Amino acid sequence: MVSIAIVGGGIAGLAAAWQLSTHADSVEVIVLEGSGTAGGKLRSAVVGGQSVDVGAESVLARRPEAVQLLQELGLPTVHPDRVGASIWSRDALHPMPAGTLMGVPGKPADLEGLLSEDELARVADEHSVSVDGDVAIGVLIERALGSAVVDRLVEPLLGGVYAGHARELSARACMPALLTAADTGESLTAVARRVSEASTARAGEPVFASIEGGLGQLPSVLVAALQERGVSIRLDTPVTEIAVEGSGWRLQAGGPVRDESLTVDAVLCAVPAAPTARLLRSVAPDAAAALADIDYASMALVTYAFPSAESAAFAGSSGFLVPPVDGRNIKASTFSSSKWPRLGQARPDLTFVRVSFGRHREVASLQLSDAHLAWDGLADLRKALPGQVPAPVAAHVQRWGGGLPQYAVGHVERIAGVRESLAAYPTLALAGAAYDGVGIPACIGSARAAADQLIAALR
Ligand SMILES: Cc1cc2nc3c(=O)[nH]c(=O)nc-3n(C[C@H](O)[C@H](O)[C@H](O)COP(=O)(O)OP(=O)(O)OC[C@H]3O[C@@H](n4cnc5c(N)ncnc54)[C@H](O)[C@@H]3O)c2cc1C
Repeated sequence: MVSIAIVGGGIAGLAAAWQLSTHADSVEVIVLEGSGTAGGKLRSAVVGGQSVDVGAESVLARRPEAVQLLQELGLPTVHPDRVGASIWSRDALHPMPAGTLMGVPGKPADLEGLLSEDELARVADEHSVSVDGDVAIGVLIERALGSAVVDRLVEPLLGGVYAGHARELSARACMPALLTAADTGESLTAVARRVSEASTARAGEPVFASIEGGLGQLPSVLVAALQERGVSIRLDTPVTEIAVEGSGWRLQAGGPVRDESLTVDAVLCAVPAAPTARLLRSVAPDAAAALADIDYASMALVTYAFPSAESAAFAGSSGFLVPPVDGRNIKASTFSSSKWPRLGQARPDLTFVRVSFGRHREVASLQLSDAHLAWDGLADLRKALPGQVPAPVAAHVQRWGGGLPQYAVGHVERIAGVRESLAAYPTLALAGAAYDGVGIPACIGSARAAADQLIAALR
C-alpha cells in the first residue's frame, strides 16, 4: 500500500482524489483541506429560502473532462435555457453580437449598434499584425481592429472568465488561436469566422452544463463518493510545510491547536499559486519564486431575490456584461432564474439575479460593507433597467478574495519552467487553476494528469 496526500480540497483536489481512487490499486488517499468545507470556488448558499450557486455555476460542456466526471458520479446534467445575453454599453442594453471569438467579430457588421460608425470603419480596416512570441490579447486585437472592440467587447468577455485586463492577459495562454493566426499571417476576423462556423455546426449540442440543484452541490456529492471509496477527507487542516523525507514526503498540517505531521509516498498540491509557492519554498525555490509571481483577482458576487410579480424585466435574457470603460460599479449581471429553468420551477415566486464586482487590482469596490455592495449593485441594475427593478426580498454577498489567477504574458513559459524545476521530484505533482486553464474542465484535466503522474511514479 502506498500513500498519497492531496493538499487542497477544491475541485482540482477532489477530482485528483477521484482519479486516484478509481484508477490506482492499493493506494491510501488523504485530502487535506485548509478550510471548514470542501469545494473551493464551488459553493452554494441559501438566499430567500432557496439554495443558489454563489461561486462557479456551470461547466463548459464542449470539453470532455467535467461532463465525464459528472457521468462517472452518476449525476444527470442540466443545461441553461438558450436565452440571449446583452452588453450594457453607453447607457443602453445591446444584444450580444453573434459569431465573435471572445469579442473578435467574423465581420464588422456583427458589431453594428454596439460600435460607432468610426469604430466600425476601423474594424473593417483590419491591420495585419506580426508578433514575436507571446503578447497581451488586448494589445494584439487593438493593433488589428482598433481599441473600441477591445474596450466594448473583448474586455467584458474576458473579464467574465478571468476578472482581468485584456491588455495584460497572455494571448498564448488565454486565446492561442489568435496568436497562431498572427504568427501565420491569417487575419483575426478570419479565425473568428472559422471558429464560429465550427461552433454553428455543433449548434444542437449544449455549450454549458450544471447539475440538478446547482454546481455548488457537486463538492458534497464528490466527497461522499470519495469517502465511500475509502478516501480520507480532513477539513480544517491547512498544510504549512512540505519537506523531503527519505524517498517520500513529510507534511506539517493543522494549526497551533491541532498540529500534526504526516509521512506519505507522494504529494499532489492543488491549492492556488501563492500557498503552493510557500509550500515549495524549501523543496524547489525556483518553482516557488515563479509561482509567487502569479497574481490573483479578487471579486464579490451579490445574489438578489426579487418578487417575481414585479420582475418581468429579467425574463427572456441570461443577463448582461459591462464594459469597464463605462466606469460602472458592477462587471456583469446574471439573470439566474431565466438562465436556469430549475430555479424558476423551484421558486416561481422569486426571481434570482446576481451581479459581480472586482477586477484584477481594482479592489476599491470590494472594501465596502456587504450592505453598501448590495446597494451599489442594485443601483446599477436600476440604471440598466430603469423603473423595472423592485426592492429585493433578500440579498447575499459572497466575497472571493484571490478568486482567479491572472495568466500574464509569458504564463505558458512560466508554467513550463515550474514543471521543469520539479522534474527531479516525480512524486510531487501540481494541479488546479493556476496552471493550464481557470475553467473547471481545465482544473479537472490538470488534476487527472497530476494523479496519473503520481500513479506512474509510484509503480
Ligand atoms: C466567483 C467565481 C465564479 C466562477 N465561475 C466559473 C464557472 O461558472 N465555470 C467555470 O468553469 N469556472 C468558474 N470559475 C473558475 C473555477 O471555479 C475555479 O478556477 C476552480 O474552481 C478552481 O479550482 P481549484 O481546485 O484549482 O482551486 P480552489 O477552488 O481555489 O481550491 C483550492 C482549495 O485549497 C484550499 N487551500 C488553500 N491553501 C491550503 C493549504 N495550505 N492547505 C490545505 N488547503 C488549502 C482552499 O481552502 C480551497 O478549498 C469561477 C471562479 C470564481 C472565483
